[in-house]
Amino acid sequence: MRVWQCTVCKYIHKGDKPPQKCPVCGVDASKFVEIDEASIPEKRPPKRTPESATASDSKKSAKAAVKEVKPPPKPEDTTVFEIIQSLLVKHHAHPVSVHTPNGILPMVVILYILAWLFDVELLAKAAMIGQVFVVISLPLVIYTGTLEWRKKYGAALTTIFKQKMLAAALTTAICVITLSWYLIDPTILSSSKAGVFIILNVLMITCAGIAGHIGGKFVFKD
Ligand SMILES: [Zn+2]
Repeated sequence: MRVWQCTVCKYIHKGDKPPQKCPVCGVDASKFVEIDEASIPEKRPPKRTPESATASDSKKSAKAAVKEVKPPPKPEDTTVFEIIQSLLVKHHAHPVSVHTPNGILPMVVILYILAWLFDVELLAKAAMIGQVFVVISLPLVIYTGTLEWRKKYGAALTTIFKQKMLAAALTTAICVITLSWYLIDPTILSSSKAGVFIILNVLMITCAGIAGHIGGKFVFKD
């Protein structure tokens, strides 16, 4: 069986031909390269014993080394700024930083809904404070996300990346809008526009969930 690897997201496909479209990142078949099965990093301990290795195997692994996907040659990091950027990508700064807003946002939305249902101003204030932390963390999340997209996925602009960007942009925009709205009018939840405010918040958490779900696809490749 032949083995193919997506050069954008590293998804592995087994079959006679590469898939027409990568099921993870959506690039077409031309972005797939054939690799040797032996070069797939395995989490399981290797089953082969040293005795079973034959001359043909060593030829095979030599071939694998040639076929193995090599990342495109990267320009050397020259400035301190570039070194920091590479370190951020290497140490997964995006998934790490994104857990701050993703952890706080559900609480914000639940508190706003409770404040609206039971007319408790304190809960709305707590939600607003949480939202301030979300807004503070978002620039770092967006920056590291863009960095990772450029450095790790070669700025590929397939549907899935567009969906992720749109979801992230909507999350950010709605978050800024509802926070500003609450700060301008702290009585919003007891006014006639409270329903719109709540719907916007639910939309925001939905977009954050979609962005997170797509991010998870890249991590888990399923
Ligand atoms: Zn892919």
